[in-house]
Amino acid sequence: MNTMLAHNDQLHPADDSADYSRATVPQRADQYGRHSPLLEIGQLAVRMEHYTRGLHRQSLQVISDLSLRVNAGEMVAIVGASGSGKSLLAQAILGILPANAAVSGKMTYAGEPLTPERQARLRGTELAFVPQSVASLNPLMKAGKQVRLAFRSQPEERIPDDSRSQRASRRYLLSSSALKSWRARLKVKRQAGEAQQSVFARYGLDPRVDRQYPHELSGGMARRVLVASALVHEARLIVADEPTPGLDQEVITETLRHLRERAGAGAAVLLITHDIQAAIRYADRVVVLYAGTTVEAALSEDFTGAGERLRHPYTKALWRALPENGFVPLPGVQPHPAALPPGCLFAPRCSMASPECRLERPLLRSWRAGEVRCIHAT
Ligand code: SF4
Repeated sequence: MNTMLAHNDQLHPADDSADYSRATVPQRADQYGRHSPLLEIGQLAVRMEHYTRGLHRQSLQVISDLSLRVNAGEMVAIVGASGSGKSLLAQAILGILPANAAVSGKMTYAGEPLTPERQARLRGTELAFVPQSVASLNPLMKAGKQVRLAFRSQPEERIPDDSRSQRASRRYLLSSSALKSWRARLKVKRQAGEAQQSVFARYGLDPRVDRQYPHELSGGMARRVLVASALVHEARLIVADEPTPGLDQEVITETLRHLRERAGAGAAVLLITHDIQAAIRYADRVVVLYAGTTVEAALSEDFTGAGERLRHPYTKALWRALPENGFVPLPGVQPHPAALPPGCLFAPRCSMASPECRLERPLLRSWRAGEVRCIHAT
């Protein structure tokens, strides 16, 4: 039975028909040797300012001291309950956080700081985002055009428009500038068409889909178009934010396999998911978030047995809450950003908590080929 993280950390069964046998997983990063870090995040903090009833201004620390790295050729899954900061992390990486968010900490991509300017320049090309819902597709635009537009909307593919009055003038029409501009447009149009055909072939989309609107596509086809639009460029870093909820098992498997294949081809893939079994099955490593911070980074292989190889009490509790591991409930709820406890954020729910745990926030440290934020980790 597969399981997914629900809102309150409890787990509920997913589709029993899921094929999670390791034999069907495409190549994992180990087969490519160890890769260099493509994305490194250190002590990321995100604060959101907003107004409560009565126009009182409130500042919420929604992410704090969040660290992780993703190597080229590696797929890393981010798991955690709703409200643990998973989607905000994705938005921070892509530079698409709402205007009321303040970000601090370190983010580097390919060894250079990932500044807002760099995010804007690389977004859609080197940095790809696969959103949660096919509602992101434009319902009024045919599928093929959406993919071509995704290709052409990138800065290096844009041809600056000459002004209307310029274009209307006879002298302009006969000028070399007009000819150059026309040729450049033709070239980009041809490249976009070729890119669309190539990506359609890669994701098994029939050429007829080119002329269909999203509402004419099945859920699986629409999802493929969405992935094709996101990955029409050869992205080096792919962030997939819950790409599978609400889909049937065949589409879930297909979507995750496509992402795994991109990692196999050398991309770094960050998979944000509630589905622990899918994370373990497809990702090389699993990073666990709790109340906006990283509590553990483990190899997928560490999720085995009774969880002896896991490091953090929260990760162990999640593992033991799975139906096949005893269905042991984890009491309490994740703290709200407005009421974070002092010291370890997990202390109010932790059976191993000692007085020292409440004194200060434990540091994330290397531990048994992984990382953990717990002073009593064994
Ligand atoms: S630091 Fe203490 S309270 Fe926090 S997880 Fe570890 S044992 Fe539990």
